[in-house]
Amino acid sequence: MTDTTRLYIDGEWAPAGDGETFAVENPADTTETVNEYARGGTEDAKRAVEAAAAAQADWADTPAPDRGTVLRETGKILEDRKEELTELLTHEEGKTLSEAAPEVQRTIDIFYYYAEKAFDDDGTRKGASGGRTSVYTKLEPLGVAGLVTPWNYPIAIPAWKIAPALATGNTIALKPASNAPGVAAETVRALEDAGLPDGVINFVPGSGSEVGEVLTSHDAVDAVSFTGSAEVGHHVYQQATEGTKRAQAEMGGKNPAIITDSADVDEAVDTVGAGAFGVTGQACTANSRAIVHTDVYDEFLDGIVEYAESIEIGPGLEDPDMGPHVSQGELDSTLEYVDVGVEEGATLETGGERLDDGAYADGYFVTPAVFSDVSRDMRIFQEEIFGPVLAVTEVESFDEAVDVANDSQFGLSASVVTDDLAEAHEFVDRSESGVVKVNEKTTGLGLHVPFGGVKNSSTNTHREQGDAGLDFFTQTKTVYLNH
Ligand code: NAP
Ligand code: MG
Repeated sequence: MTDTTRLYIDGEWAPAGDGETFAVENPADTTETVNEYARGGTEDAKRAVEAAAAAQADWADTPAPDRGTVLRETGKILEDRKEELTELLTHEEGKTLSEAAPEVQRTIDIFYYYAEKAFDDDGTRKGASGGRTSVYTKLEPLGVAGLVTPWNYPIAIPAWKIAPALATGNTIALKPASNAPGVAAETVRALEDAGLPDGVINFVPGSGSEVGEVLTSHDAVDAVSFTGSAEVGHHVYQQATEGTKRAQAEMGGKNPAIITDSADVDEAVDTVGAGAFGVTGQACTANSRAIVHTDVYDEFLDGIVEYAESIEIGPGLEDPDMGPHVSQGELDSTLEYVDVGVEEGATLETGGERLDDGAYADGYFVTPAVFSDVSRDMRIFQEEIFGPVLAVTEVESFDEAVDVANDSQFGLSASVVTDDLAEAHEFVDRSESGVVKVNEKTTGLGLHVPFGGVKNSSTNTHREQGDAGLDFFTQTKTVYLNH
């Protein structure tokens, strides 16, 4: 295991400049400290950026297949350590082992995928534009990438930024989220063990307002890729784009599922239940609104309440259905929104209670909540809650359902449950969101296709993942060659 009380800068694991550390606790039992981490400061962050800048030209000159080889080797190392990483993820972040394992597998797959993509790192050739001239394009790295990531997918999100950045010849300064930095540290360690040259990736845990600020605003940073809340994301994006940096910020959601009158209600309950309460509702794509046709409303409501009440809650390491919230702050925020919903006049059908006795006493456990009678003007309809809270709204028609679904500042993922092909297509066309799903939960994404939102869910400059990941980290040079 890595000595987590150290930062990784220019190929060296060393303590933070001022020797500070911070502790990460087990969210299922806060009497237990899982790990201590170096708390990097502003100076450490600057050194990380400088190291990345110094290493960039050589890394860009490294033949693309050799860069791919490092990524493939990293995937192999992570694969060998899969079980240990799954446990570490659960231990720090709280999700169940059954939820953590596919996230680690996805990370392994991301490294393998971009390892192959590195071979394709070239442009296009066009016919002669005249005389003996040929014209072609070549792709070049942007330079130094400042990456800032959230805690809720603490290994997959760093990976889906790191792998395309490295495949295309960029170097990196990475700040993981403070709640669960362990699996990101181990990913950096795997890259080192795979032979990544010194300085190509630099890793600085620490606070967002110190380390995060530097990585997203330093003059030597060329590309900023941020995932997290809308509040921080807009700030980061604005600051980054004051100069000439390329930037993307992927942010929150308030993802709807429409249940039409033709829907198989049992299927709808399973689809919405999995999307709403999986990973304790702590997904940017979590299904937080169900918009239900009046003909199936009562049946759906009974079903989803039963679903919520059947969820077994416990420490993620025991692999129940649902683990705790990641932190006191996230738990408090969910409980506060439950109070807000009740005050606004929605009906709390079930859940929304903190579990705090016996085995639950020292964890951030909350029961999954279902609100009915939710109207569009309510805060629980409009604001991202980031916990296991579902708002159910009754509608009279398909048209009204689409209108209600689109009545949101966010537009990340949206789903329709229907047996009517025309409605399915209609929803695909009219939904204001970056991802649309038919008869599938709002969560769960392919790593080989673009991902990103519209409206307040994203700065909507570039998508992530698949080829879009490579696009973000490269720029095109057009060459005219008269021979
Ligand atoms: P967050 O509070 O915005 O933090 C995200 C990252 O930004 C963390 O590493 C944080 O550091 C850092 N940060 C905080 N202030 C900063 C600043 N001034 N400058 C630069 N960086 C700063 O988000 P979170 O609570 O970790 O994650 C939950 C949010 O992420 C939700 O809104 C969720 O919807 C969103 N999310 C979006 C996607 C997507 O792809 N669209 C995916 C997953 C999550 P600290 O940890 O040290 O505070
Ligand atoms: Mg936060």
